[in-house]
Amino acid sequence: MPDQTTPHHAPPGDVLGTPAPVLPTDQITALLQTAWGLTAETVTPLASERDFNLLIGNRYVLKVSNPAEDPAVVDMENTAMAHALRTSPGLPIPTVVPAASGTTVVPTTDATGRTCLARLITVLPGQSAEGKPITSELAAQIGSLAARTSLALQGLFHRAGDRAIDWDVRRAPAVLGRPGVLDDMGELGSRLAVVLPRLAAAAEATGALPAGLNHADVTLTNILAGPGGVTGLIDFGDMHHTAHVCDLAVALTAVLRNTPDQQPIGTWELAAAVLAGYQRHRPLTPPEVEVIGDLVVARLGLTLAISHRLSTAYPDNRAYVGQYEAGARRVLPDLLDLGPGEVTRRLHLLAGTARTGGPGARSVAATTGQDDLGTLLDRRRRVTGGPLSPLFYSRPLEIVRGEGPWLFAADGTRYLDAYNNVAVVGHAHPTVVQSVNRQNALLNTHSRYLHEGIVELAERLLATMPDGLDTILFTTSGTEANELAWRMATAYTGGNAAVIAEHAYHGSSKWTTDLSSNEWPPGYRPAHVGTFAAPRASAGSTDRQTASGRVAAAAADLTAAGDRAALVLADPGFTSEGILNAPAEFLAGLVDGAHHAGALFLADEVQSGFGRVGPAFWRFAVAGITPDFVALGKPMGAGYPIGALITRREIADSLARDYEYFSTFAASPAAAAASLAVLDVLGQESLPVQAARVGDYLRNRLHAIAAQDDRLGEVRGTGLLAGIDILTGPGGAPNDPQARPFARALLDALAGHQVLAGRTGPAGTVLKIRPPLVWREEHADQFTGALTAALSDLA
Ligand code: PMP
Repeated sequence: MPDQTTPHHAPPGDVLGTPAPVLPTDQITALLQTAWGLTAETVTPLASERDFNLLIGNRYVLKVSNPAEDPAVVDMENTAMAHALRTSPGLPIPTVVPAASGTTVVPTTDATGRTCLARLITVLPGQSAEGKPITSELAAQIGSLAARTSLALQGLFHRAGDRAIDWDVRRAPAVLGRPGVLDDMGELGSRLAVVLPRLAAAAEATGALPAGLNHADVTLTNILAGPGGVTGLIDFGDMHHTAHVCDLAVALTAVLRNTPDQQPIGTWELAAAVLAGYQRHRPLTPPEVEVIGDLVVARLGLTLAISHRLSTAYPDNRAYVGQYEAGARRVLPDLLDLGPGEVTRRLHLLAGTARTGGPGARSVAATTGQDDLGTLLDRRRRVTGGPLSPLFYSRPLEIVRGEGPWLFAADGTRYLDAYNNVAVVGHAHPTVVQSVNRQNALLNTHSRYLHEGIVELAERLLATMPDGLDTILFTTSGTEANELAWRMATAYTGGNAAVIAEHAYHGSSKWTTDLSSNEWPPGYRPAHVGTFAAPRASAGSTDRQTASGRVAAAAADLTAAGDRAALVLADPGFTSEGILNAPAEFLAGLVDGAHHAGALFLADEVQSGFGRVGPAFWRFAVAGITPDFVALGKPMGAGYPIGALITRREIADSLARDYEYFSTFAASPAAAAASLAVLDVLGQESLPVQAARVGDYLRNRLHAIAAQDDRLGEVRGTGLLAGIDILTGPGGAPNDPQARPFARALLDALAGHQVLAGRTGPAGTVLKIRPPLVWREEHADQFTGALTAALSDLA
C-alpha cells in the first residue's frame, strides 16, 4: 500500500492508507473532561477521510488525528491557524482550544491501542458548501478566501510544510504515472496520458512562482457557507509548502467540479468569479495564470486516481472518498475537449493577463495568428483613420515595452527614446505603475467626491506656481486645458478673439485647432485669431518692446475686423515653432502685449513643463513672468490622461457666473495617483536638475557635430528639449521645405541606429530631441554617436 515517495523530513507515514482512529464513547467523555474540562456534551460523529472527528455540543470539534500522522504536521496545522488569525484577524478559520495543561495537542490511545493526537477546535457557523448551488457571488467569496488564506500564511515557516502528499497538484504527473492508475480510469485515463507531459511541465514551472505554506485544500467540503456567503474555512490537514497558484487551482477545481442539481451558472462564469474574487486580494502574474488550466486538469486527474485507490482499499468508506468523482468525470472531458491552449487563453482573458507582452511576446488575445508587422500594419490601415493618423518612420515600429529611457520593439530591438516627454520619469517607472495600479484596485471614480489624492495634487501643483495663481481645474488633455482657458478668458474679458504665435500648436479640438497655426491648411486663417512672429533670429529683435508690439499689432488687426482679443497663448519653449530660445524679455513682452490689449496671457506648458527645463519646473518661470493661465498636460500623468488649467480664482469665477465645469475622466483618483507619483519621482530623483545638466551636455555635443556638417544648422533649446535646424546643405536656410526629405531620412537612419527622435518646426525640418528626463550623459553620448553614424550613412 504505501506508495508515497519518501519525504525529506520526518516520515509522516501513510495517512491515506492507515485506517482512521476509533474511540469508544466513554473514552471520549473522559478525554473531554480531563483534558478540556468539558462535561455533558452531546457528541456527533463527522465524516473524515483519515481522522476521527466528532462534533462536541455545537461549539467544538474534537479531532483525533490518524495514528500515522506526523506530530510535526499536527503542530504545523495548529501553528498555521494561530498565525493566520494573528496576521489576518477577520479570516473565518477555527481556533485551537488549549487543553487545561496549556498544550494544544493531547496524546490519546484509540480502541486498537494506537497512539493518536487529539485537538479541540472551535466550530464555525454555516454548512459545508459541497454539492450546494454556487452563485457567482459565492464563487467570488471562495476565490477571496483562498487568496486571503494564502496571504495570511505567507510569512510562516514550518519544517513540516516540506511534505510529500498525494493531493499536492504538483505530484499529479507522478501519481497518475504509477502503473495501472490511468488504466483504471478507462478512456479518460488514455486522454490524461496524452497531457501528462504538459502537466509535468506545469508542475515544473510552479518552481519559479510565488510560494509558501498553503492550506492547499480550499475545497467546498472545507468551506462553510450560510445565507450571506462564506462563513468559514476548516481542515488544515493537507497543508504543505507549494506555489500559491497550486492552492488557487485546488479551490478553482472544487468550484468547477461541483455538481448540484441546480447549478445557477456555468463553468466559465464560475471560473471568472473565482478569479475575480481571488485577484481582489492577490493579483496573479501572467506566468501564474499560464499554468492554472493544467493544474486544474492535474487536480481533477488526482481526484479520480485517489478516490479510485481509496474506494478500492476502503469499500465501506466509498461514498465519502468517491464523492468528487462524478464532478471530475464531468468537467475533465470538457477541459480536454477545449484543449490546453484554449483553456489557458480563456483564463488569461478572465484574469486580465491576456494583453501583457514583453519583447517578442505576442498578446495572448491576438488569436488571429497574424503575427508579422506587415499584417498588423494592414489591419491598422483597414480600421483606423488612414492619412488622418499617420505613424512615425517609413518603417513603422511596433513598440511593446518601455523601461526608463528605452523602448523595445516586438522583434526585441532596444531603442533609446529621444522623443517621448509623456514618459517624463522614464517608461514604466515602478513608482508610477504601482501608484496607479493600487489606486485602480481601490477606487477610480471622478472628481465629484472628496478625495485626498486629488486635493493633494492640486495643492502640490499650485505650490509650484507664482503668487496669485491659486486655482486649478483638472482636464484630461492639453487641448481641454486650453479650451477651458478660452472659455474663461472670453467670460472674464468680454473679448471674442485670440492671439497665437505663427506655427503654434495648442490642441486638437475645433477651437484649439484654430489656435494651432501649425495645423492650418494652406490659405486657411480662422476668424477671430491673430498671429505674431515667434522669437526667431531671422524675424528680428526679441526684446520686450518687440514682443509686446507684435501682440499689439495682432490685437489691432482683430479690432479692425470687429473682434476683441481675449487670450494670448504661447508655449514658452516655442516647441512647434521649431524649439526657439525665447529670452525672458520676449516672454515678458507677450504678457505686456496681452494685458495692454485687454486680454489674458496663457503659458502653454504642455510640452515644456514638469522639470524639462530644470532646475525650474516650468519654462515660463525661467523667464520670471506670471501668466494669467498655465496649461498642463502630456507628462503630468506619465501617460495616464490628465491635464490642468491653473489660473486666478477671479478668472475662474467669471465662468462660474454662467457655468459649472466638469470633465468625467479629469482628476480621477487613479489619474491623481499617477500625477502625484510623477511629482514624487521628479523630486526624489532630482530629475529637473539632471535635465538641466544633461541638456547642456547634449547641446555642447550637438554644437560640435553641427559645426562639422553643413546639413545641420543652429542648435537651440533649454534643458532636455533640444532642436537642430536641418538644412539642404552649405548655405541652406532654416525651415526650408526642400530639406524635409533629408530630415525624414535622418530620422529613419537614427532609428536604424536604435535611436528614436522626432521632427518639428514650420517645415518639419527641425530635429527634435525631447526625451524622458532620466537621460544621463551616457544617453546623450549614445544619441550623438547615432547622429554621427546616421549622418555618415546619408553622406
Ligand atoms: N499644447 C501644446 C504646446 C502641445 O504640444 C500639445 C500637444 N502636442 C497640446 C497643447 C495639446 O495637448 P493634448 O494632445 O493633450 O490635447
